Amino acid sequence: MNYRSALAQMKPYTPGEQPPPGKFIKLNTNENPYPPAPAVVEAIRAAASGPLNRYPDPVATSFRRAAADALSLPGPEWILAGNGSDEILTILVRGFVGEGQKLRLPYPSYILYRTLADIQGAAWEQTPFVDDWKLPAAFGHSDDDLKLVLLPNPNSPSGTIVPPDEVAAIADSLTCPLVVDEAYVDFADDDCLDLVRQNENVLVTRTMSKSYGLAGVRFGFLVAQPQVIAELAKIKDSYNCDAISIAAATAAISSQDWLADVVAKMNTTRDRMASELSAMGFRVTPSHANFVWCQHSSGRHSEIYEYLKRNQILVRYMAFPDWGDGLRISVGTDDQIDACLLMIGRAIGSLG
Ligand SMILES: *Cc1c(COP(=O)(O)O)cnc(C)c1O
Repeated sequence: MNYRSALAQMKPYTPGEQPPPGKFIKLNTNENPYPPAPAVVEAIRAAASGPLNRYPDPVATSFRRAAADALSLPGPEWILAGNGSDEILTILVRGFVGEGQKLRLPYPSYILYRTLADIQGAAWEQTPFVDDWKLPAAFGHSDDDLKLVLLPNPNSPSGTIVPPDEVAAIADSLTCPLVVDEAYVDFADDDCLDLVRQNENVLVTRTMSKSYGLAGVRFGFLVAQPQVIAELAKIKDSYNCDAISIAAATAAISSQDWLADVVAKMNTTRDRMASELSAMGFRVTPSHANFVWCQHSSGRHSEIYEYLKRNQILVRYMAFPDWGDGLRISVGTDDQIDACLLMIGRAIGSLG
């Protein structure tokens, strides 16, 4: 078969393992351990008895109105809804980066960006973080081929955050758009939405998969100035969000009190995880997300990962060439984290 050469040459992206439900304590893909707000389940029930024979609203108007309200944006024309923020990222790369052109991402960060560049037949360039997860000035340098810069903020796997004033300075020094991927921002104290109003080149992506507990539903969105949204909307599938996900996401974004409660609970669990892991000999990076990145003094991360897996606990082992490896552990319920910490203690004890 004659596939496009970009496709034939690229390696596929491998998402985190999704084992059958019930088998593992699942702390590997940063999902919410708690079910979504009760209003979400009611909205899904109501949508399921609605007119499913009809196509959904192509631009998810109900969601965009509710989101503009919840996030204090000027109006729905500042929002583009997508089938997960991964679809939004696809739209952004298709919209800005042509074949032979280039996007930039920090390293280590979200590997999917590289896959999106590969599909386009575009190049990617990684700028390593310096001094414990700070961005060097080079991250804001422009060149003729550079068409898009992507920054997960908070970052994965580190959970660290680049403060909004530094993000603003990077955006000002670039000649291409800067995407701030705020998948984990509800667990942090700062966000970059204000920068979108100030600078046409700042584009913020959000997801309902993590803080809102809706990874199974698939819904994410872009916040950008209205002329940017109008242009990028040309790229999306006509009906990219289905009637049930639109109803669910609308109810979720309208449940801000529920969100605040869940985030407070998870951040308390996160901080307890961090101190207990430190006590067990891990170097734990201070996290502003719903996971922690930790490295044990023994350096034997893959063995700890395997030990946990044999005992039905799934965390993420990550190795970054020329950089190092470690474990990324999602925040679970307190019971799940107690079980995980107990097993990590045993894993360390078993290392010869
Ligand atoms: C989880 C994640 C996303 C993907 O979110 P979906 O809306 O589920 O597609 C995007 N960016 C980062 C950095 C993530 O960790």
